[in-house]
Amino acid sequence: MKVADEMIKTHTLLQNYQAVKTALGKANQGAGRKAGALLLAVSKTKPAQMIRELYKAGQVDFGENYLQEALQKQQELQDLPIIWHYIGSIQRNKTRDIATCFDWVHTVERALIARRLSQQREGLPPLNILIQVNIDDEDSKSGVLAQDLFGLIDEIIGLPNLSLRGLMIIPAKANDNAFIRTKVLFDQVVKKYNLPNWDTLSMGMSGDMTQAVAAGSTMVRVGTAIFGDREYS
Ligand SMILES: *Cc1c(COP(=O)(O)O)cnc(C)c1O
Repeated sequence: MKVADEMIKTHTLLQNYQAVKTALGKANQGAGRKAGALLLAVSKTKPAQMIRELYKAGQVDFGENYLQEALQKQQELQDLPIIWHYIGSIQRNKTRDIATCFDWVHTVERALIARRLSQQREGLPPLNILIQVNIDDEDSKSGVLAQDLFGLIDEIIGLPNLSLRGLMIIPAKANDNAFIRTKVLFDQVVKKYNLPNWDTLSMGMSGDMTQAVAAGSTMVRVGTAIFGDREYS
């Protein structure tokens, strides 16, 4: 019984995965992209075994929000060369593990955090950094306000162990307009700074991937559409 349950789950997971890849392929085509947006599989709250199954099916990039949970899964999956993305909020006393155990961080919004990540990354290849922008200008939301973005970039630019790759947003709701405004900001940075690695716009989730790609997303973060609903205990 248990084995059969596991098989059904794996089958559903792989079907979901193929469906998301097909949808993303269409979105990329629709946007006329040479290089399509990359699929980041968001595996928060889901077991390491599901990550392993997806890795076998060809998925390499995984995103996690909760540090302890992520470290545990990394331990279980250390035989696989997974590219790990940290997409959760960052507490200042947790930066060391984030700096050393991940390849990407999508949620940098303060210079203090960027400085700590750079210091603690010492001796490793540069950590890929995205700045999270609060594009809807909401009080309760995380991310730097658009008007403060250039100031933050000025502070991050000289940090030796970081590679500043681009921007990330979580819009208030499925919102084409937020995607388009973020793309405008992204292009302003291209013009104003000569950043060698500025190439990534992380936006779009299960519900709005296609709109995000149409607006210029280069990386979509998809959880539910691949793994199914999350149960929080
Ligand atoms: C959970 C999460 C996602 C995935 O959301 P889905 O709607 O499940 O696709 C993407 N980005 C971030 C930052 C998340 O926390």
